[in-house]
Amino acid sequence: MKILITDSIDQEGIQILEAEEGFEIVIDHSLKGDRLAEHIGPYDALITRSGTDVTAEILEGVENLKVIGRAGVGVDNVDIEAASRKGVIVLNAPTGNTLAATEHTLAMMLGAVRRLPFAHYSLEHGEWDRKKFMGTQLYKKTLGIIGFGRIGSQVAKRAQSFDMSVMAYDPYIKREKAEKAGVELVEKMDDLLTRSDIITFHVPLTEETIGMIGRREFDLMKERVVLINCARGGVVDETALADSLVSGKVSAAAVDVFSKEPLPKDSPLHGAPNLIITPHLGANTEEAQKNVSVIIAQQVINVLRGRSYENAVNLPYVRGRLSPELQAYFDLSEKMGRFISQYAAGRIEEVQVTLVGTLFAEDVSEKVFDSPFRYQPYTFAVIKGLMEIFQQEAASYISAPYFAKERGIIITEAKADRVKNYSDLISIRLVTEKGTTTVEGTVFADLKGRVTAVDQFRVDLVAEGTFLFFSNIDRPGVIGRVGSILGDNRINVAGFYLGRESYQGNAVGFVSLDSRVPEAVLEEIREMEEIRG
Ligand code: NAD
Repeated sequence: MKILITDSIDQEGIQILEAEEGFEIVIDHSLKGDRLAEHIGPYDALITRSGTDVTAEILEGVENLKVIGRAGVGVDNVDIEAASRKGVIVLNAPTGNTLAATEHTLAMMLGAVRRLPFAHYSLEHGEWDRKKFMGTQLYKKTLGIIGFGRIGSQVAKRAQSFDMSVMAYDPYIKREKAEKAGVELVEKMDDLLTRSDIITFHVPLTEETIGMIGRREFDLMKERVVLINCARGGVVDETALADSLVSGKVSAAAVDVFSKEPLPKDSPLHGAPNLIITPHLGANTEEAQKNVSVIIAQQVINVLRGRSYENAVNLPYVRGRLSPELQAYFDLSEKMGRFISQYAAGRIEEVQVTLVGTLFAEDVSEKVFDSPFRYQPYTFAVIKGLMEIFQQEAASYISAPYFAKERGIIITEAKADRVKNYSDLISIRLVTEKGTTTVEGTVFADLKGRVTAVDQFRVDLVAEGTFLFFSNIDRPGVIGRVGSILGDNRINVAGFYLGRESYQGNAVGFVSLDSRVPEAVLEEIREMEEIRG
């Protein structure tokens, strides 16, 4: 296994990688842009911090790459879609620097309200001016937190120890999380903007959050508001912030992250009054750097060794974390996807996955904002199964949704209450240019996935191994004749499953086999009078 490290990461992670048998570690911080594209070919893994842009052009030429590890949280330097199309797993280490970023936020907040760097500068320049640096207290002030994730919630905890009252805006968290933390969760961001004395951002950079704070939002804020941004640069419009500092609407601000880094010399933020800026230091502690380096090394090893791993930003679930029953549904979904794509004729236009029953009530996908797909794991499995059949490039759970999107296939996921005999089931409805097909499946107590219906036919098929499937007219002798053709050709039959609409009407047959059926034998079966296809 060849591992390439293109940014500086803590030695402890490197040692973990070096200790692995059969791993070759190459550290080259000069490999960026075109040079990286030229050299990446033979590597199985790439480890970076924020200093390496992993673009679509670079990923174009990858052959062996299986995983990109970002030693840190933000993955905006990696083209996630391009990596996903290539089936490359993108990992980050989101927990490693949570406390470092939290503490930096608090330092920035205190620094801003007590005007520390300006006082320091003034004193260093021979002044002794106490009036000029009159501060404000945090006590009893309202802190508005935008993005109540790992860092946002840790900031809240520390702010409460200053007796601040804390509110948060985060449309993606459960209300109980805020309630448990003693934080008021507001429905609308505007509400937070109008009521907060200090506003701090802890959101990822996404299509939704880019430019989420512009002139309109500044207008809504309280006079003399304080703003802290230790999240990502593009979230706050920098020109609007600079203007608000000049006008005094914002009394102080502290910013660690910028829309362009390093901060360009002509940035409107340079020289803005009452602004503290730091060069993206949020995660810059010895402890955090060690943590992220160790976490990313361990997770990259797990991927390369085929073990279960965490924090894949382009795969919003970990199969191994599902309960055994849900894992069985996950596996069944993939098989049903594979089956339905072979069974249905014509170009696929639409796939609808319906999760029926209380078992699926809980959302088991993790929030992954870097992926445009927010399905439950079972839908990812269905799509992989579907795409695998006709996609030449190997479809993975990561790449399959992109392949489906490219083909213009509409994918919908729905949940429904229990309606039929089985307590929980997964149903796939596939619309092609030639018609509509449905397949249903469930998992019994033995944790074996079973297909229970194919279109109007009730069946009971353990979804394992190779199947021969045919539709026929319900007449005596069909099973016998199919059985003898297979037997004559030394193909062993493990089981026969039948379903029919009515006596002498339409029927279906599934034959479970120990080996695949050669084309010539299939032809012989197709020629039988009762067989329709
Ligand atoms: P997290 O994923 O735990 O939390 C992010 C939260 O933002 C989530 O709860 C999510 O629901 C919420 N969110 C997403 N979109 C939103 C929207 N449109 N409106 C409101 N809320 C939204 O991430 P985290 O570990 O807490 O990190 C938060 C941010 O801090 C990230 O941008 C990360 O890159 C940044 N960060 C910066 C530094 C630094 O050096 N300054 C260090 C670490 C993390």
